[in-house]
Amino acid sequence: MEQTFIMIKPDGVQRGLVGEIISRFEKKGFHLKGLKLINVERSFAEKHYADLSAKPFFNGLVEYIISGPVVAMIWEGKNVVTTGRKIIGATNPADSAPGTIRGDFAIDIGRNVIHGSDSVESARKEIALWFPECPVNWLSSLRPWIYE
Ligand code: UDP
Ligand code: MG
Repeated sequence: MEQTFIMIKPDGVQRGLVGEIISRFEKKGFHLKGLKLINVERSFAEKHYADLSAKPFFNGLVEYIISGPVVAMIWEGKNVVTTGRKIIGATNPADSAPGTIRGDFAIDIGRNVIHGSDSVESARKEIALWFPECPVNWLSSLRPWIYE
């Protein structure tokens, strides 16, 4: 089953949005396969966002991610990478539709509350980076009620 890496950024944690965000993924029918609240070091944040290192906003982005604890998660389900990005909404909250997490809870692009992997390949890399320990393996008994 497909997995994605979702991170609630420091603003989402500080603003008390952790429960709301987890709830949206749970209610959709996705299953939680990894979860931790952590402070990340600068070098780790730089590694996570390595693809963006040439961008003018890179330093500000790294400062943002290390400014407080983040909630790192693995979510599993059919098409969870693409659907997860839809639940999250467009990168710039000014363009995120109402009903999406960023559309409902954010205003500035540099305080957009949440990260989600942009492809199955990035998800694989990000899960390996953030969860080097073997994630808990469990199967929800609700699966037959969610998948036909
Ligand atoms: N970002 C920013 N300014 C920009 C573009 C991006 O501060 O002009 C930040 C924003 O927090 C975004 C993150 O950099 O979520 C990663 O950018 P990406 O293009 O990967 O967007 P995402 O995949 O998060 O939607
Ligand atoms: Mg991205």
